[in-house]
Amino acid sequence: MTARIIDGKALSDQVKAQVSQRVDELKARGITPGLAVVLVGEDPASQVYVRNKAAACEKAGLHSRVIRLAADIGEEQLLDLVRDLNHDASVHGILVQLPLPKHMNSSKVIETIAAGKDVDGFHISNAGLLMTGQPLFRPCTPYGIMKMLESENVSLWGAEAVVVGASNIVGKPMAMLMLAAGATVTLCNSKTRDLGAQTRRADVLVVATGKPGMVTGDMIKPGAVVIDVGINRNEQGKLVGDVDFESARKVASAITPVPGGVGPMTIAMLLVNTLEAAERSAVQVPVTQ
Ligand code: NDP
Repeated sequence: MTARIIDGKALSDQVKAQVSQRVDELKARGITPGLAVVLVGEDPASQVYVRNKAAACEKAGLHSRVIRLAADIGEEQLLDLVRDLNHDASVHGILVQLPLPKHMNSSKVIETIAAGKDVDGFHISNAGLLMTGQPLFRPCTPYGIMKMLESENVSLWGAEAVVVGASNIVGKPMAMLMLAAGATVTLCNSKTRDLGAQTRRADVLVVATGKPGMVTGDMIKPGAVVIDVGINRNEQGKLVGDVDFESARKVASAITPVPGGVGPMTIAMLLVNTLEAAERSAVQVPVTQ
């Protein structure tokens, strides 16, 4: 079997085109959806992510404001900035690019973002809403994966879903979304004994560990759908995922590539979340904190 390649780039283009249309409708009502992206320090990967997010916003007609702060800025200054953005009616979504410098408490910063503007979906209120089946903002990466599965007509109802990696931003919300869609979910971490025994049960396998090529073809059930979230650079400087693509594609029925799979969908869903925040603001009183 050679797996079908799930084209995240093409699907993200479709999603962005739909966003663009809804942005036009909102602009006609006098509202331009706005995203504020805060970048602290000069981490090279973060700079690329922030640039890509801002460019995607502009292209879809949203307004983006990138605020760059020195790495040694005090935490209180960052919190004050976030509070100002919470009260700024032209800003519908606020994103603080992670990781933050070590002297800052990331949880405290995220909890300071107004939950109604937390387009990353990392605020504890949004995590709780997702957990209890009433999501406001779904974290962008798992949300994008759900869209991919939907567009591939992969039914999660009664399916065995295995998620490898249990971070707050990918693995855990991924598990919650698939559970809500009717799957029986297994969530693995670095302590999981006999990982292959878990992954081989998966009809849908999502891998998000940051360990290049750690899931190999022999760990995959024939015909499974494999979603590779990992973004790593190998020794040759090439982007690779957490799944060994060459061995996996011989066993899976469908697989996401790296690059061109989950990555583009993450950005597309950030636009969706920002647009929806702006749409909600059109019918609600401003969010304050
Ligand atoms: P984290 O480092 O926060 O979490 C990694 C998770 O993987 C942890 O739960 C860890 O377990 C688990 N893990 C590590 N090694 C193993 C192992 N050998 N077996 C089983 N589980 C293991 O990573 P993130 O979730 O933030 O990111 C994961 C990957 O996804 C990275 O490559 C990142 O770059 C990429 N990423 C891609 C995005 C995209 O848009 N495509 C967006 C976000 C992330 P434990 O809890 O026990 O430590």
